[in-house]
Amino acid sequence: MLKNSYKNYPNEKGYFGQFGGRYVSETLMPLILEVEKEYEKIKNDRNFIKEFNYYLETYIGRPSPLFFAERITKDLNGPKIYFKRDELNHTGAHKINNCMGQILLAKKMGKTRIIAETGAGQHGVATATVCALFGLPCIVYMGEKDIERQSPNVFRMKLLGAEIRSVSTGSKSLKDAMNEALRDWVTNVKDTFYIIGTAAGPHPYPAMVRDFQSVIGKEVRQQLKDIEGKSPDLLMACIGGGSNALGLFYEFLDDSNVEMIAVEAAGHGINTDKHAASLTGGKPGVLHGNKTYLLQSNTGQIQEAHSISAGLDYPGIGPEHSFLFEEKRVKYMSATDKEALDAFKYCCKLEGIIPALEPAHALSVLRKIAKNYNKDKIIVMNMCGRGDKDIFTIAEELKIKI
Ligand SMILES: *Cc1c(COP(=O)(O)O)cnc(C)c1O
Repeated sequence: MLKNSYKNYPNEKGYFGQFGGRYVSETLMPLILEVEKEYEKIKNDRNFIKEFNYYLETYIGRPSPLFFAERITKDLNGPKIYFKRDELNHTGAHKINNCMGQILLAKKMGKTRIIAETGAGQHGVATATVCALFGLPCIVYMGEKDIERQSPNVFRMKLLGAEIRSVSTGSKSLKDAMNEALRDWVTNVKDTFYIIGTAAGPHPYPAMVRDFQSVIGKEVRQQLKDIEGKSPDLLMACIGGGSNALGLFYEFLDDSNVEMIAVEAAGHGINTDKHAASLTGGKPGVLHGNKTYLLQSNTGQIQEAHSISAGLDYPGIGPEHSFLFEEKRVKYMSATDKEALDAFKYCCKLEGIIPALEPAHALSVLRKIAKNYNKDKIIVMNMCGRGDKDIFTIAEELKIKI
């Protein structure tokens, strides 16, 4: 590894530059330290890696294909566009890669009760799935507002045997669900493991989640080498907390000729108060145990995020992205609700893939910037989720009766 490699972060205290860390209460600290210690033990352990890979392959369906999007390539008349098909994973998104890693760790630690937070419900479904697989009880904290908005996923979690706990404090959405999950953890110290759904939270979560997701980029390197005999020129992904983007980018962080663009949700527009673009429109602060860019008022109150896509609707972002943003290693752009909807329709029509609204944000920016790249260039976009979960939102937006 290079001496000043981007892959060496975080440092031993969990910092990516000035971001990250462990801003937690004294009661939570021993739990976090235990997770860190156990994760350090297993992360390079051959048997653990073998077990993880076994479930990635036989249960999740990895490697996910790398697909040449020929009609979109033709339509844009520029670089070659590839989709990394993580929407084909079991449960329909990238979230399960991370859940599998964390539940195997929980089992190694002898934990017998799993808790999680969820916004759109994708992480809740993935957690409920791995809990059913290993026969562990699962409690999912979910904002009251999200329970209303995301009824199909609530139903899925129930079918999988999870208990949903409705959170009616604060804005009644993801941020508050995460607060409640942290509270539960402190009061159930002995037997409980908290599976966090994105590359955020106190150290070691941001690094651990990234590591479990980094299988995405590793596969892309090998697949593109086999197909094209070279590395990609540009990687693109959407950003909520940032786990699927880091999963794709991490492998290539030290390849200085590989460019990266991550796309935040601009909701009704960056200049309105209804968006979720923490880097483009926020500033540094502390939330959920780490220092990072946050949407906040002048007095430091966390502001509610808005996006048509519930998976991007979080007022913060993982600390590693705040670091990569300030280092200018990754470029951060944004797409509005309307732009994402247009890209959603475009993808259905040209490639026969119904994307989740999250990656539709990345596709929207891809369409705009493709003209800046020559025909010999290669862009890989992470198709991190499928759109089944979004059909009700889409129907409402497009005023279609279903
Ligand atoms: C949860 C989710 C996201 C946002 O989370 P990241 O941690 O930023 O990846 C994006 N896309 C899909 C499909 C999701 O389910």
